[in-house]
Amino acid sequence: MSAVRINVGGAMEDEALRRVVDAESRAERGESFHQRHLTIESWDAPALHPALNLTGKRMKLLRSARRHKVRGLGAFSFLLLIAVFSLLAACGGGSTSPPTLSSVLTETQTSAHYIYHYTPGDNVNPIYQEAFYNWDSAQLSVNLEEKIQYYKFTDVNQKQQLSGVGGNAHADTSTNSVFTIWPSDNHETTHLLTATIGMPTPFINEGIAVANQTDPLDKIYTPNWNGNSPHYWAKQYLQAGQLPALSSLLDESAFEAFDPNMSYPIAGSFIRYLIDTYGMAAVLKLFPGASYSDSPSTTMSRFQEVFGKSFTGAGQDWHAFLMQYKGL
Ligand SMILES: [Zn+2]
Repeated sequence: MSAVRINVGGAMEDEALRRVVDAESRAERGESFHQRHLTIESWDAPALHPALNLTGKRMKLLRSARRHKVRGLGAFSFLLLIAVFSLLAACGGGSTSPPTLSSVLTETQTSAHYIYHYTPGDNVNPIYQEAFYNWDSAQLSVNLEEKIQYYKFTDVNQKQQLSGVGGNAHADTSTNSVFTIWPSDNHETTHLLTATIGMPTPFINEGIAVANQTDPLDKIYTPNWNGNSPHYWAKQYLQAGQLPALSSLLDESAFEAFDPNMSYPIAGSFIRYLIDTYGMAAVLKLFPGASYSDSPSTTMSRFQEVFGKSFTGAGQDWHAFLMQYKGL
């Protein structure tokens, strides 16, 4: 069975946290997911590390917040906030305010399209960000009216504590913000730009963000995923007989149940293939009116309309492309 193990700092005499989370997860026991550990740092109490096993939907919510945009406060985050506040109150910690973004990320810097917030002694890379923004906005034919708020954290723990969301990076379209542990972040910028056109199923939404993980500052336009191109990774999976049928990635929940080190580069490779074969303008037609929760059949019929080709057929063409791909 599943399991996200959450280590919550602070006293656990307060059964509220256990009850709240257990009540929510009880109904969904039995689903199988990879195990992950999420540590929520204590603000002012010694950590006791009680473990709460979460499954099913909790796992998906946590995972979906890992790399990409957060569409408002998820049910789990909301419950967790309630739980944390009741925990603080119960152990007498209520009088100490938790640190906030503005009280910790006190350094600011501004460039043409960003306002950066970071910890004194930490750093950001406005030169890269501007080069990337200019390239990406031209690629996507989109411009943001307001500057992006770029919150740079020293590490995942600081990000978790101050933004309330774990993982290396995420974007919030409602506040035009990027939250990241990286001094430069291309992926989340793409999410903010494409969100102005539409937000299709994550296979496409994440796919385009990975497909555009380039380095225009150094004139490197091959996207990079963990040191290699998404095509390289997809080809490895294909040759190993591990490449899932693309149609199995079109459902939102199914996509998020995959190991992101498979689903993301696979999606990125396929979308990059479409961009290079049919053009960005065609790919962007998948966005307007689309929704994160579109059914696979909805996405497939839209695909057929846009490309004049079936999704399955395009997948076969992509396989053939990968087999002759020689790049790293
Ligand atoms: Zn993403």
